[in-house]
Amino acid sequence: MKFNKNICLGIESTAHTFGIGIIDFNGNVYSNINNIFIPESGGLHPYQVREQHLNNFMRVINQALLEARCSINDIDLITFSQSPGLGPVLKIGALVARMMSQINKIPIVGVNHCVAHVEIGRLMCKINDPLTLYVSGGNTIVSAFESNRYQIFGETLDLPIGNLIDSFARLVGLAHPGGPKIENLAHQSEKYIPLPYIVKGMDLSFSGLFTAARRLVKSKDYKKKYDLKDIAFSLQETAFAMLTEVTERALAHTDKSEVLLTGGVAANKRLQEMIRYISQEHDARFEVVPLKFAGDNGVMIAWTGILKYKEEGGNDVSDTYVKPKERMDEISIPWRS
Ligand code: AMP
Ligand code: MG
Repeated sequence: MKFNKNICLGIESTAHTFGIGIIDFNGNVYSNINNIFIPESGGLHPYQVREQHLNNFMRVINQALLEARCSINDIDLITFSQSPGLGPVLKIGALVARMMSQINKIPIVGVNHCVAHVEIGRLMCKINDPLTLYVSGGNTIVSAFESNRYQIFGETLDLPIGNLIDSFARLVGLAHPGGPKIENLAHQSEKYIPLPYIVKGMDLSFSGLFTAARRLVKSKDYKKKYDLKDIAFSLQETAFAMLTEVTERALAHTDKSEVLLTGGVAANKRLQEMIRYISQEHDARFEVVPLKFAGDNGVMIAWTGILKYKEEGGNDVSDTYVKPKERMDEISIPWRS
């Protein structure tokens, strides 16, 4: 294919996903290919993830170029997830981006992964200025644009919500990812077992909830006393009510008229129902980011890199080091000023 528009290749590499997205400067998507690390047991081990990404990145890039029917010579911009994430994993994406940029003399732009989740949501849902609830395996953040930044109005103080659900699922022998399996179990119950509900100011804490749920399934005669579907239901109801409370308070405070739900946990129908309800109560439009763009992906990195590049040009190579701890509220957003 001969492109008459500028084309960007985006690289996602913050955690389990090595993703390549190819998109033009007008927001048309040509490919979105992801390779996802699935742990055999336990959580994500950064060095195992790194090995998988190292073994697969070239195949993912080739597949994305093939699907977009282009070659590296058609690419006008390379972008990569520069922050936040697992250090050894971020470095793979940064290395691949720097190599492609320098060998082919293509400008390079580093992107904050959390900002990218919001920006791809704005593009795909045709939404302008939302309050965003971003819920995934590694993040739980309520944010909105104010004073030139994506301010964080609430966040988890310990476990991210997806990690809570996956950890509980693993404990009861359900394979990763646990989210859809717990949702399915929860759907079969309406019996609520009280569990710790911990909201501190605008922030959330899920570790007490996990401990209490674990105590139930580890208790003596557990199977005689409890049904797993009731625990799954109670876990979801408690965690999602906490998320909903914080999102609603942020909505009342910011007075935004749009609400965006994104991240892998956005797939959950019960969570969607709760956030839709409070959005309607506040006369706000509610959108869920389409799932292939709600989970981690290279397209969101490509699109956010394009927005940044149009305002500020490319990064100098000396400014392409990774920033594992960078928060989304630390950086200014020139394309929205
Ligand atoms: P991400 O980190 O954004 O790629 O999303 C992955 C997370 O989303 C994992 O923790 C999954 O368990 C979770 N997830 C996926 N589908 C669902 C669902 N239907 N309900 C709850 N969590 C889900
Ligand atoms: Mg993510």
